[in-house]
Amino acid sequence: MKTAIVIGAGPAGLMAAEELALAGLQVTVAESKPSPARKFLMAGKSGLNLTKDEPLKDFIAAFPDASPLLRDILSGFGPEEVKVWAQSLDQEIFTGSSGRVFPKTMKASPLLRAWMLRLNNLGVALRTRMRWDGFEGTGVSFDTPDGREVVTADVTVLACGGASWSRLGSDGAWSAILDEACVPFKPANMGFERVWSDHMQRHFGAPVKPVGLHCGSQAVKGEFVVSSRGIEGSGIYAVSREMRDGADLFLDLMPDLDMQKLQARLDKPRGKNSLTNHLRKSGLSPVKIALLREIGSDFSAAAIKHMPLSHDGPRPMDEAISVAGGVRFDGLDQGLMLKSHPGVFCAGEMLDWEAPTGGYLISACLATGRHAGRAAVEWMQNRGHPQS
Ligand SMILES: Cc1cc2nc3c(=O)[nH]c(=O)nc-3n(C[C@H](O)[C@H](O)[C@H](O)COP(=O)(O)OP(=O)(O)OC[C@H]3O[C@@H](n4cnc5c(N)ncnc54)[C@H](O)[C@@H]3O)c2cc1C
Repeated sequence: MKTAIVIGAGPAGLMAAEELALAGLQVTVAESKPSPARKFLMAGKSGLNLTKDEPLKDFIAAFPDASPLLRDILSGFGPEEVKVWAQSLDQEIFTGSSGRVFPKTMKASPLLRAWMLRLNNLGVALRTRMRWDGFEGTGVSFDTPDGREVVTADVTVLACGGASWSRLGSDGAWSAILDEACVPFKPANMGFERVWSDHMQRHFGAPVKPVGLHCGSQAVKGEFVVSSRGIEGSGIYAVSREMRDGADLFLDLMPDLDMQKLQARLDKPRGKNSLTNHLRKSGLSPVKIALLREIGSDFSAAAIKHMPLSHDGPRPMDEAISVAGGVRFDGLDQGLMLKSHPGVFCAGEMLDWEAPTGGYLISACLATGRHAGRAAVEWMQNRGHPQS
């Protein structure tokens, strides 16, 4: 029987394992942590956003600078396929108002349980506490509780994740092994540092919403949170790529009012109201007023609708939801096989792509895992001999 080893038990690795097992290979998934898919489970804590229900063209456009290969892969396994896949695991799903797709339970654990059972029924073996630490002859070597172990398989799929939330397993240490094949990591979907004046303290934890965020070519309406460390939350993540790459951030603190209507509100007689009360009555929340004060604003309609907010750079990469960088696409063939290591395929967040939150990340991990698994089967059938 032909054998496969999949390294990393996140969504990408499990998807690859399933494809390999369906093709009749004897599959072992090797995972460094004591249990599988810890980041996937964490993703479910705030609502597991599996994909985005939108036309494929828009879905793919959310992956900036995606290689033609990644576009092809996403075309073959996009939002529709992700939904069907989740349903095949008996997960009821729903689409929220923003098009985000979630399991009805919102959590990842029921889905993961069903998936692990299905993999088990397909004969996939899971070995935990196996830390991949390099190549050895025709095999891959692991640091295990019983010492070093070398495993040789007909095909190998690497799905070790990105380089954030290292306590959940994806520490990016593998990039030292693949060195030449990698682009340096950068944080993606992350918060930013900002040192605040004392008066901001009472607003820590307060959501700024609704707010328009404009940064470079990005413009979104959403919300974010002011924290002791700076600014974070979905609205910031949505423009974080442009912010990281140096574009200035501007806020529209009253995105539902045009300039004239806002001006009319501000022009209303103040009477005995303090400026703060007047601004509150005009619709600005305390945290928005505090932000305007923080930047020394003149509280004009123009300033409220176009407020610059500077920052001191991204929060540490380990806190980021995801990362950019990783295995470069030009080091891979059409099957996501490393050109430098025939028979070794890569999938998931360890590949050099980036996307916003909103279900794009898990979708792309599933899609690339499926593609790598299928390509590994095809490669093995065509070559018909163990990797060299
Ligand atoms: C708080 C949070 C919330 C998120 N929410 C969402 C969401 O709602 N929707 C969404 O689309 N995305 C979300 N994401 C992102 C998503 O979870 C990841 O993009 C996805 O899990 C990546 O899948 P992966 O299989 O590529 O890697 P991972 O899930 O990181 O799995 C990689 C696995 O490989 C193992 N590994 C690493 N190195 C080795 C080694 N050397 N040897 C053996 N094993 C190794 C790790 O332990 C890990 O289990 C969220 C992320 C975070 C942190």
